[in-house]
Amino acid sequence: MAERSSASLNVARRERELDDIASGSILDVIVIGGGITGAGVALDAASRGLSVALFEKEDLAFGTSRWSSKLVHGGLRYLAHGDFAVAHESAVERGRLIQHIAPHLVRPMPTWFPLLQDMDRRSELLIRAGFLAGDTLRRAAKTPVHFLPNSRRISADEVRAYSAGVKQEGLRGGLLQWDGNLFDDARLVIAVARTAAAHGAKILTRCDVREATGTCITVRDTVSGADFEVKARVVINSTGVWAGQLNPDIRIRPSRGSHIIVNQSALGGLMGSLTVGVEGSTSRFVFAIEAPHGRAHIGLTDVETDSVVDVPHATEPEIDFLLSTINMALETPLTRADVRGTFAGLRPLVDHGETDSADVSRRHLVTTDASGMVTVTGGKLTTYRAMAEEAVDAALIAGRFLPRPCRTATLGLVGSGTSRAAWVPSWIRAAHGSEAEDVVAQAGANPELLKRIGPGLDLSAAQFLFGLRHEGAMSIDDLVDRRTRLGMCADDRETAVGVAEWALAAVRGEA
Ligand SMILES: Cc1cc2nc3c(=O)[nH]c(=O)nc-3n(C[C@H](O)[C@H](O)[C@H](O)COP(=O)(O)OP(=O)(O)OC[C@H]3O[C@@H](n4cnc5c(N)ncnc54)[C@H](O)[C@@H]3O)c2cc1C
Repeated sequence: MAERSSASLNVARRERELDDIASGSILDVIVIGGGITGAGVALDAASRGLSVALFEKEDLAFGTSRWSSKLVHGGLRYLAHGDFAVAHESAVERGRLIQHIAPHLVRPMPTWFPLLQDMDRRSELLIRAGFLAGDTLRRAAKTPVHFLPNSRRISADEVRAYSAGVKQEGLRGGLLQWDGNLFDDARLVIAVARTAAAHGAKILTRCDVREATGTCITVRDTVSGADFEVKARVVINSTGVWAGQLNPDIRIRPSRGSHIIVNQSALGGLMGSLTVGVEGSTSRFVFAIEAPHGRAHIGLTDVETDSVVDVPHATEPEIDFLLSTINMALETPLTRADVRGTFAGLRPLVDHGETDSADVSRRHLVTTDASGMVTVTGGKLTTYRAMAEEAVDAALIAGRFLPRPCRTATLGLVGSGTSRAAWVPSWIRAAHGSEAEDVVAQAGANPELLKRIGPGLDLSAAQFLFGLRHEGAMSIDDLVDRRTRLGMCADDRETAVGVAEWALAAVRGEA
């Protein structure tokens, strides 16, 4: 069994663990990629008692995993495509995340459709039928109704309570169902990676894997510039849209999904997710989802693209499409001036020769190549745990290990309890769960470090200190773009950068 270690990631631990690796011992498992899939694989393997090192070329959650819609899906969408197995898996994993694995980061969220004057009865019946199917999926997944209540019709007054900004003329009420919503997708990745670290995994960021086979990788430490080789009984490639660069047999068909960010107040307030059908389609929707700091994220597009760039961007036509679709449901239309920021990510869809990227299966792929390297890609953030279980099962075969049972189905992540201390600011509890008191302790005797860093921003300097001392942040961007998400809006970023610079200098001064 791997020795139980601390969940704290920081520069000192990284250096120590890189030195250990340089000693040349052969690991059980090497994981390449520090998105949700790689972090999930590292946790699965380490919790089965294997010796594990994860190598990430930039920072945890650098790739697609931080650009999701932050939905923990019940699988309804896959049911609409007749993909029953994927739908069921998604509903089961949603139930596990909400109840056991990350109840501090995944919360039940009301998802509602306003029944507007111009919505025909057929569309209403289709949505109602979909919601009833969603209830069946929840029951089949055995998620108790007190976590996710049944869907129902709601009155116009209830719709107004969810958002006062909905078009009033002819409003007939709404349809409501419950799904899972992530407080922050990057924080889920970090929590999974730190839980893996607590089970003994070495989590090594700024380590770019240049070449890989089933048992050996060549890595460049981009901090020191040093190149080195690492050997293991099996290598798992979980590099998302980059998977084909290490395994040319894999053909990824990237599809860009973009969101815009507005203030909730511009929508007349918002609770949960306001959903609107895309004109001319019965299966495509645009939603405005409640997000931290009083913001709402409006998504989502699906645009096939050839280029795999590190940080993709929303295009003007995508922004126009999102604004015009959500405006169909609003009394006062949003304009470009309301857009505070945008973000976009690349779906790592596996190419099976479909004609349209919207038709490409969201099913994941686990495959072992001739050298014994296991690649796991595709799928969804919601199903990361199941993907990791399958990938590690394949790795046990490739690495000729004896079978070892997976332990992650109910394994709580760091922070998965709730902090009961009433004196801890609510936004710290929301981001850190049962670690909230440890975050508060970073402030020492200085209560200023627990105050909001700017008006309306639910973030304090103590969280940046915690990010550097315990969550593996090494730079300003790590703090502003991945341990917190203030980087998504330019003016919030400006406020956050000054505080992050101070925190980085303070922690470097301790070394
Ligand atoms: C716009 C959008 C919205 C989405 N919304 C949802 C949603 O609401 N719910 C849901 O369940 N799913 C959603 N998804 C899907 C989900 O986000 C992805 O399936 C998931 O994040 C993919 O994670 P990953 O770890 O496989 O890839 P990534 O997060 O991209 O991670 C791959 C990592 O590998 C690293 N890497 C690459 N090459 C190397 C190398 N050579 N050496 C070392 N490291 C390397 C990268 O830096 C990166 O950090 C959405 C996807 C998109 C694009």
